[in-house]
Amino acid sequence: MFLGHYAVAMAAKRAAPATSLGTLFLASVFIDLLWPALLLAGVERARVDASIPGLAPLAFEHYPVSHSLLMVVVWALLLGGAWFAVAHQRRGAIVVATLAVSHWLLDALVHRPDLPLAPAGEARIGLGLWNVPWGSVLVELALFACGLALYLRSTVGQRRWPLWMLCAVLLLIFAGDLLGPPPPSITAVAWVGLAQWLLVAAGWWVDRPVPGGRPAVAATL
Ligand SMILES: [Zn+2]
Repeated sequence: MFLGHYAVAMAAKRAAPATSLGTLFLASVFIDLLWPALLLAGVERARVDASIPGLAPLAFEHYPVSHSLLMVVVWALLLGGAWFAVAHQRRGAIVVATLAVSHWLLDALVHRPDLPLAPAGEARIGLGLWNVPWGSVLVELALFACGLALYLRSTVGQRRWPLWMLCAVLLLIFAGDLLGPPPPSITAVAWVGLAQWLLVAAGWWVDRPVPGGRPAVAATL
């Protein structure tokens, strides 16, 4: 899942209008920002396996810290708590925590059964929509369209061209993943994954109010 995580963050702007899209992105992709760092540190393991049919030719061998449900709930509570401490926005904090958990639920839709429920234990979850490429693409694009529509309805006072640029970049990355060759190595996957910090930064940039423009519902944090 790629676009879907950004889509739910855009949709969440309606529930937390005073929280910046960058913060919402950070929450919804948080465990995918953590995962590459843990891969590079050797704490978690995955490998590229071009023989896996369908989308995402990756074998997620061991990722209990970033992607077990129990740890995701812990990360969500920490993120929500941190956001409440920084911004004093109860609503924003609840939305941030919910978005962090939404990541696991959306991953569970597309991943093959490799998502652990707890750091220890054998139970693995995954409905495997990646095995049906057209189905995954349809779900991701539908989520993206809904998320974008809700974001547009929830915001005023921003220039729109940064948003269109961000959307174009997200769609290009999605298309590149779909149509490009398998990644050369898991290290390359990790570095590309870390580059998602740039998309989080873009979220803050896109969502900032225009100086001297109409008063924005939008956020400064
Ligand atoms: Zn993930």
